[in-house]
Amino acid sequence: MVVVMKSGSAAADVQRVVERVSELGYTPHVSRGQFRTVIGAVGGKDPQSREQLEQLPGVDNVMGIALPYKLASREFHEADTIIEVKGVRLGGPHVNVIAGPCAIESRELLFEVGAAVKKAGAAVLRGGAFKPRTSPYSFMGLGVDGLKMLKEAGDQLTMPTVTEVMDPRDVEEVAQYADILQIGARNMSNYNLLMEAGKAKRPVLLKRGLSATLDEFLMSAEYILSEGNDQVILCERGIRSFGGEARFMLDVSAVPLIQERSHLPIFIDPSHAAGRRDLVPALTLAGIAAGASGALIEVHSCPDRALCDGPQAVLPKNFERLMEQVRQIARVVGRKTTDWNGSSE
Ligand code: PEP
Ligand code: MN
Repeated sequence: MVVVMKSGSAAADVQRVVERVSELGYTPHVSRGQFRTVIGAVGGKDPQSREQLEQLPGVDNVMGIALPYKLASREFHEADTIIEVKGVRLGGPHVNVIAGPCAIESRELLFEVGAAVKKAGAAVLRGGAFKPRTSPYSFMGLGVDGLKMLKEAGDQLTMPTVTEVMDPRDVEEVAQYADILQIGARNMSNYNLLMEAGKAKRPVLLKRGLSATLDEFLMSAEYILSEGNDQVILCERGIRSFGGEARFMLDVSAVPLIQERSHLPIFIDPSHAAGRRDLVPALTLAGIAAGASGALIEVHSCPDRALCDGPQAVLPKNFERLMEQVRQIARVVGRKTTDWNGSSE
């Protein structure tokens, strides 16, 4: 249920509602909009609570949210959530590209690719230090050494960074080095990990599971939000389908469908969807045209030698061309490419 306060209601009225919501056995979550404050009341079951809350001063109305996810829903938070990380605004009308190698393989590679993607206009640097691999014999990442390199590269290039965390025990440590925590597709339903990320003071980029419905995807976001972390970025990265040409199928319809249901930013990941670099430009542009807040793209200066996901990595020079096209499409669909090489459009 959400308690909608009257426009311009007093702080003391909001506080009284928050206290009453707790007394009734619900967990309160306050969302302050431009005009109104909304208090989400999650968890409790008192049948009388709705009428009781309606009587409190400053309350406009109390609505039930029939959806399984509450805090992730547009009903709870009408305006688009915009997440600001080191001056980069993610979500809403802003279009940003997150780019870098799949895995941090060496300091040299990370700095080389990082400088190239920055020059081309990427806003956020990615690089995996803990890699979830299909085979237990594959390269699993450099771990904490990789995190240190990522932090150094982010600082030097003045780019916020994102990296995957796979284990709830690592959340705190990863959060010390990275600006955004990534939860990968294979861990979308790892509820302990989601809850731990919900306690972190860092935005979380949550990828859609390989065969998750949109409701399941939003319920996973709800786990993070319900722990008090309201900075969640969703990422559609392709789902299982038939046919073997692409590794997964980018679900472009997920972009407008998520935007209808949720206020959270939605990105697309053409690299993991395609699994092959020749499809990456078309999928990127399709996602941006559909209204995504940005794309996550894997780039490598020598993809043939990449230790992870080489076949889908684009070369820096092709990434640069793609960024030009992203900028053009973003403009056509009325999006902003602020923070793009420091310029503002
Ligand atoms: C990744 O971003 O490198 C990754 C492993 O992604 P996903 O979880 O979508 O497979
Ligand atoms: Mn990858």
